[in-house]
Amino acid sequence: MRMKEDATTLSLIPFMEQPESRYNQKPEALVSDSGYGSEENYAFLDEKQKRAYVKYNWFHKEQKRKYRNNAFLADNLYYNEKDDYFVCPMGQHMHLAGKVSSQSENGYRSQLHIYQAQRCTGCPLRGSCHKSKGNRRIEVNHVLRSYKRKARELLTCEEGLRHRSRRPIEPEAVFGQIKANKHYKRFRHFGKDLITMDFAILAIAFNMGKIWNQRQKKKDNGEKPTNHQIFLRCWRFVGKISPAHSKKILPLLQHQMRAA
Ligand code: SF4
Repeated sequence: MRMKEDATTLSLIPFMEQPESRYNQKPEALVSDSGYGSEENYAFLDEKQKRAYVKYNWFHKEQKRKYRNNAFLADNLYYNEKDDYFVCPMGQHMHLAGKVSSQSENGYRSQLHIYQAQRCTGCPLRGSCHKSKGNRRIEVNHVLRSYKRKARELLTCEEGLRHRSRRPIEPEAVFGQIKANKHYKRFRHFGKDLITMDFAILAIAFNMGKIWNQRQKKKDNGEKPTNHQIFLRCWRFVGKISPAHSKKILPLLQHQMRAA
């Protein structure tokens, strides 16, 4: 079975490989929203020994008392790891009934285990438990469950809480400003190279705007702002995006700085 994943999920691995190849830096940890919380991504981060502060679907729901106290949810059923069975709310053992394998677009293989109750007929809890005609079946991905457990521990520790509190402020606010305040909702060019250039120029302009605001604040506080600082920051930024382009853009930035 081929697994259908959205572009966000598939983009994590190339994102993580970029800083290593481009800046020769290896990030120790990754902080991201639940769009990236797939088994394949967790496995990749685990293999690379990165701390994954990566949320998964239902992470926030799991924290709610209503979810934790719902005895019918598959996530809350007791699992006997030694003999490989779940225990349903009525106390029946749900034994393994089959396995389904799937493969992602990147070729990552994962496996779902299917467990089934033996006899749901006449059970007084059936109305609250499930709506299927036969006996209740649940699908469990044991590998993903264990990655989620690790992610939950990281996300709820002191360091994880600090990362979670900073994530909405640092990246999301910038995208909000670019899209809503600056009305930049579509790229103006086609093709990977042109789009890279398109976004690089936008990012430079955005950073220059931030530096300009800092400069104005310094001025208001009676400190002496310098153009030199702005120039250096832009130059370093372009150098990071594309060392080849940084040489070409140097005269342009010098001109801009002289004009400022
Ligand atoms: S309906 Fe079936 S699975 Fe649900 S509690 Fe009753 S016996 Fe268990």
